[in-house]
Amino acid sequence: MGVSGQAPNQGKEASFFENIYLWKSRMAAKFISERNIRFLLYEVFDIESLTKYDYYKDHNRKVFDMVLKEAMRLAKDLLYPLFEEMDRNPPGLVQGEVKVHPSIRDLMKEFGEGGWISATFPYEHEGEQLPHMLAEICELIFAAANYSTHAYPGLTHGAAHLIESFGSQDLFEIYVPNMLAGKWQGTMALTEPEAGSSLADIVTTAEPTNGDYYLIKEQKTFISAGDHDGVENVIHLMLAKIPGGPPGVKGISLFVVPKKRINQTGNLEFNDVICSGIYHKLGYRGCPIVQLSMGDKKDCRGWLVGEPHRGLAYMFQMMNEARIGVGMGATAMATAAYYASLEYAKTRHQGRKLTDKDPTLPPIPIIQHADVKRILLFQRAVVEGAQSLLTQCSRYVDLMKVSNDIKDKKKYNLLLELLTPIAKSYPSEMGILSVSQGLQCLGGSGYCADYPLEQYYRDCRIHPIHEGTTGIQGIDLLGRKVILEDGQPFALFLDELRHTIERAERYPELKIYIDELNKAIKRLQAVTHHLISISQQKGIELFLADATLYLEFFSIITIAWQWLLQGVAIQKALIEGTRTGDRNFYEGKMFTLRFFYRYELPKILWLSQRLMECDGLTVEMKTDYFKD
Ligand SMILES: Cc1cc2nc3c(=O)[nH]c(=O)nc-3n(C[C@H](O)[C@H](O)[C@H](O)COP(=O)(O)OP(=O)(O)OC[C@H]3O[C@@H](n4cnc5c(N)ncnc54)[C@H](O)[C@@H]3O)c2cc1C
Repeated sequence: MGVSGQAPNQGKEASFFENIYLWKSRMAAKFISERNIRFLLYEVFDIESLTKYDYYKDHNRKVFDMVLKEAMRLAKDLLYPLFEEMDRNPPGLVQGEVKVHPSIRDLMKEFGEGGWISATFPYEHEGEQLPHMLAEICELIFAAANYSTHAYPGLTHGAAHLIESFGSQDLFEIYVPNMLAGKWQGTMALTEPEAGSSLADIVTTAEPTNGDYYLIKEQKTFISAGDHDGVENVIHLMLAKIPGGPPGVKGISLFVVPKKRINQTGNLEFNDVICSGIYHKLGYRGCPIVQLSMGDKKDCRGWLVGEPHRGLAYMFQMMNEARIGVGMGATAMATAAYYASLEYAKTRHQGRKLTDKDPTLPPIPIIQHADVKRILLFQRAVVEGAQSLLTQCSRYVDLMKVSNDIKDKKKYNLLLELLTPIAKSYPSEMGILSVSQGLQCLGGSGYCADYPLEQYYRDCRIHPIHEGTTGIQGIDLLGRKVILEDGQPFALFLDELRHTIERAERYPELKIYIDELNKAIKRLQAVTHHLISISQQKGIELFLADATLYLEFFSIITIAWQWLLQGVAIQKALIEGTRTGDRNFYEGKMFTLRFFYRYELPKILWLSQRLMECDGLTVEMKTDYFKD
């Protein structure tokens, strides 16, 4: 929006494409670093090593580079120009149907025909069989360019994958090809007005019939992309309870509930799913979030996926993918915000060096002030630490898929289970702080709509909420994942850290960080053992009272590990010698590593102290005491 108060794209006279052009010329700023992406994929995580496995044997670096190039093109040419436009013109409910930005139809087609939705699917299921590591990085690129647009294909991929994994051949044939082609939208329909964090309490019912379908009744709320005119049909992967089943989560089943079903003549007809409301949101406005009403006319049909009462276990596949996806989206937004503030800091002149007393000297770019450098280093430490963790997680997904050894498969699965709440929450929570600091870097301009920081600030607030709040992730980490299978995932995680330390020991420059990480590991073990003993002696309520703080504590140590892992690749490159420009890249990364260990890692001291105290303050606080 310009200072006049009118968004350039809202000008009635300018056409849609003219507005895009305007945007492109104004917003030539960088939203992601291709250099850092290549560093992660090739130098830290060695994506090429995956090609030794049969499943990925057709690929090579040339293919990976080509995919990255194409993803950047799509992001730069089609997604980024719509970033502000879609925020200023959010979807609306018109006569029972959600109208989204007209470009969504073309974009879904592009995502479908370009093979982006099916990227990780096997060849026999019309996929590209690309490594998850690469597909996730492409998601990062898309989400950094325009988070809202990337949600539509992302949800469709997750829903199609769920049918592929657990649905019948019939369900696959009816739904998946159209979803992968971007013609039909996929959703995850879990939340209800009285069941958000607690899915055990859902009341949507699925009554068996004499046919091959169930009759679905009730309401779902906050469903992302739950209805819109950018596709021909919307396919809900919906949780519901079959009457007579076990209570709680054990009675939840999974259904495919299409907006329009296929009738006997092969045409699409109304399936009694109504969009009864659309939410007006703080940010993330390019994607509609809707309320759905099923079965008002007693004719909403749903088809069971897999076995009855196993729905939540199946849905966890999509939820876990979506949690990592949220972490990636949060990282992407913080990344774009970082580059926007970096760009500003280079060009904004204000003040003089503290050592220059002469007021006639010209002002200097703010990037030269130590405090602005601190802000930028903080953003970079969070962004590149989180990118690294998410790439690590997708590497585990790849290895789980291709490893021939059943023990290895289990190992990667357990590591992924443990790290999922961290991969979701660290970028979500720290992304907000990072974007906020980015906004601070722009001073008053950051608060105004002429620059994208205010939109990133609004957009990023969703991440600690959807796909399970941070509070729920904390309980998941401490109450379930850490103690899973007699603490196996925790032990495997510590092995991973020790393995990185062994590799880092080759480089004297990393010695101080190795020492710090070793101390942090000891602290993590002490706190974890202490909390587990609390659970045995004093009960679960005290054990989990500060689970969110434990999540933060664990996350900081996890990111410190990821920075040390990057440190190994940085040192290798610096020792082998690089071109001058590249040397700045590595030296800059080394400073960021140093920053993380000096400014962020020490936060675990206070956190561990508080966790060791575990005095039950919040448990003892009576709700009556919150009076006035
Ligand atoms: C933009 C947006 C998109 C969404 N997309 C989807 C979607 O596509 N599909 C879908 O199914 N849902 C979706 N949701 C719903 C989302 O997943 C829920 O909002 C979220 O899980 C929280 O549920 P709730 O809003 O009912 O909050 P509540 O469950 O009421 O939680 C409120 C607060 O209480 C805390 N709390 C709740 N229970 C506990 C507990 N046992 N212990 C400690 N603290 C607790 C929570 O941490 C939170 O801070 C979306 C929501 C939004 C806003």
